[in-house]
Amino acid sequence: MKQYFIELNDLTGDKVSVQGSFEPGLIDFSGENLQQVGIMDWSIAAERAGEEIRVVGSLKTNVELPCSRCLEAACCEVVKPFDLFFRQRDALMFDEDEEVELDDKETSTAFFTGTKLAISEILREQLLLALPMKPLCKVDCKGLCPSCGSNLNVNTCQCPQEQFSPHMDKLLELKKRLEERSS
Ligand SMILES: [Zn+2]
Ligand SMILES: [Zn+2]
Repeated sequence: MKQYFIELNDLTGDKVSVQGSFEPGLIDFSGENLQQVGIMDWSIAAERAGEEIRVVGSLKTNVELPCSRCLEAACCEVVKPFDLFFRQRDALMFDEDEEVELDDKETSTAFFTGTKLAISEILREQLLLALPMKPLCKVDCKGLCPSCGSNLNVNTCQCPQEQFSPHMDKLLELKKRLEERSS
């Protein structure tokens, strides 16, 4: 397994561009509620920007997440462009006060230690940021029955229909009144 790093020592003049395709498993998503189910294609260009390292790139892959309605696997394509700044954390350069000030001004700057940036870490974080809030297994997923928990995509259950919410009642009342007025 080949690891990819952005080596700070390589960033002397020109932009350094790298790209690759990561098989599922190369980036560790254990502990997350997701599974990478296809190759992750990515490209990254890194360059020095003053004291910071600017990392511009994008990633594209497919993931499986639990459907937000029925909890079955939902497959989503994730495409994520990014434009990030990193600053080397150096105990000799920054005392604590200075660091706090930096965090206030430059909230988009991430700190790192050592002399290289792990590309898999950057991709992992960017993928997690790009996940859909409410993944669906299909657009018209019927979800789970709130009474018995049956998956309504595959089963029909005998539970009584959900009661209208008070809000819905008010809407129906309004509709009725409007109909009476127009008739
Ligand atoms: Zn579903
Ligand atoms: Zn039910």
